[in-house]
Amino acid sequence: MRRLLMPGGMILLILAAALAAPVLPLPAPLAMDIMHRLAPPSVAHWLGTDEFGRDELSRLIWGARASLAVAGGSTAIAAAIGTSLGVIGGYLRGLPAFLAIRAMDVVLCFPPLLLAVLIVTLVGPGIVTLIVALSILFLPGFTRLAYAGVLQTRNLDYVEAQRVLGAGRARIMLRTILPNIAGPILVQASLTAAAAVVLEAGLSFLGLGVVPPTPSWGLMVRSAREVMGQAPLLLLWPCLALSLTILALNLLCDRLRDALDPQTAPRRRRRTMAAARPLAGAAATDGDATLLAVDGLTVEIATPRGPIRPVRDVSFSLGAGETLAIVGESGSGKSVTGLALLGLLPGAARVSHGAAVYAGTTDLLRCQEASLRALRGSHLAMVFQDPMSALNPVHRVGDQIAEAILAHARLDAKAVRARVVALLRRVGIPAPVARARAFPHEMSGGMRQRAMIAMAIAAGPRLLIADEPTTALDVTIEAQVLDLLAALQRSEGLGMIFITHSLPVVARIADRVAVMYAGEVLEQGPVAEIFARPLHPYTRALLDSMVPEGDGAEAGLPAGIAGNVPSLLDLPPGCSFAPRCALRRPACETLRLPLNEVAPGRFSRCPYGREIAAMAAPIPAARA
Ligand code: SF4
Repeated sequence: MRRLLMPGGMILLILAAALAAPVLPLPAPLAMDIMHRLAPPSVAHWLGTDEFGRDELSRLIWGARASLAVAGGSTAIAAAIGTSLGVIGGYLRGLPAFLAIRAMDVVLCFPPLLLAVLIVTLVGPGIVTLIVALSILFLPGFTRLAYAGVLQTRNLDYVEAQRVLGAGRARIMLRTILPNIAGPILVQASLTAAAAVVLEAGLSFLGLGVVPPTPSWGLMVRSAREVMGQAPLLLLWPCLALSLTILALNLLCDRLRDALDPQTAPRRRRRTMAAARPLAGAAATDGDATLLAVDGLTVEIATPRGPIRPVRDVSFSLGAGETLAIVGESGSGKSVTGLALLGLLPGAARVSHGAAVYAGTTDLLRCQEASLRALRGSHLAMVFQDPMSALNPVHRVGDQIAEAILAHARLDAKAVRARVVALLRRVGIPAPVARARAFPHEMSGGMRQRAMIAMAIAAGPRLLIADEPTTALDVTIEAQVLDLLAALQRSEGLGMIFITHSLPVVARIADRVAVMYAGEVLEQGPVAEIFARPLHPYTRALLDSMVPEGDGAEAGLPAGIAGNVPSLLDLPPGCSFAPRCALRRPACETLRLPLNEVAPGRFSRCPYGREIAAMAAPIPAARA
């Protein structure tokens, strides 16, 4: 903060002098003394007098009022309106984005000075006219900057996390997105204010700005130019005032931006927070009742080459207090399935078919956005893969957890702080009072993921979707996070969908597993049974191809299955695994079977499951 003192002090000094002009012991700025025109600096007139004998220092200080009013007024109006338009357009897209950006394009069609001259000519010169004209001139800069910033930010995990927690659009725009684009906006404001000071001077110099005899720095430059040969110092004072003001503005905003960036700001003093209160009771569960029943979920994305379906006919159920793992290679559709259930599909994707009935009453795939928002956080929650990108870098961890609480509850600040600390303690973060004050970059990867989990459970959800939450962690931390999730699930009675590509992780945490491939569930059943006796060649190949112990098996990565996952634009007409299946038969090329119950609690799309189960040796690789 000390770096702000110098430029901040300069600006305050200029502002204070301008505001205090009426009470300062100065000669009146309009009082003429022709007998002493163009007098050099003296005790009576510290900076001399102008061509009408008016005190130069008095006019300089009074002139600051006009120059700063124009700069401050136009910058503030342009920043407020332009940033609002950019944020709303960037976040909502569609018509708001079209209107905001096209309107700015119209403004940009006019050369800036010409537009200012046009407005001043139409309305007449004056300070208010200048503020209006310059505000319009500066609007596109703020709008486009905010729009671009929002486009970069709106799909980041920490914005998605806020949506998952049920935060409304306005709250996300104000509390999550705006702080992240505030740095560039502040820099733009500094440049704009400096430009406004210069433009005011230029327009006043041309006779299109402040109306004489009201003093302004631009008018002083204009007057001084006419007597430059006789009194060159008269040109120096307003130019010096302009230069110092612009320099101070740029320095102030540059350092303000650094100070507001928590990754470059010095560590803040930690304050003691209120003592923790115990957590509220766990969310009510329905015992063994089905918490979620997904039936035929299909997601479609329109592409120039026709629609593709990254998720097709996916069906599964999940009981309260149960963990279902969805396992598959990259591109198998497991993450898209999770996003579809929460209504968080990207704009180009849509659910074309299916149902996902939550708690026996609510079809999540048919819910309006407002209803889904109410469910997110309080009923449905998500833990993302990378906590560094899922946590907002400019907010303290405790504040982000508080946001998750306040999205669904009205509590006073003390109660919220207590609950934040209790949640951090609940997920095993040491020194939770101090950690609540930390920024994400001040925490380790494991601690960040614990904080994400604390956010996810903050409003007592019943269904938690964990999308590869341990992929970014090392093996030791992964084990700790898995143990934490399992413990939370038991104590809170959560139903959990655990998305992963790791079979060892599945074995460790899940009750049942759904194996996905090319957008379809190929096999589903209890983990122990599937690991002991897979009924689909793909599951069998996955298990057979696990890297041998000590060769990376901890990561749970399959060593590889011959062939590639088929393109969604060119899926085989029959079984989607047929091109890679060593057991394929002619019928498989055309046979497309639904997920059938082939044994009690066991589902498979392959009709030859019993033969596969009978094979003791690994399935040989498919021949190309
Ligand atoms: S249906 Fe045929 S091609 Fe598909 S997995 Fe079964 S045996 Fe292999």
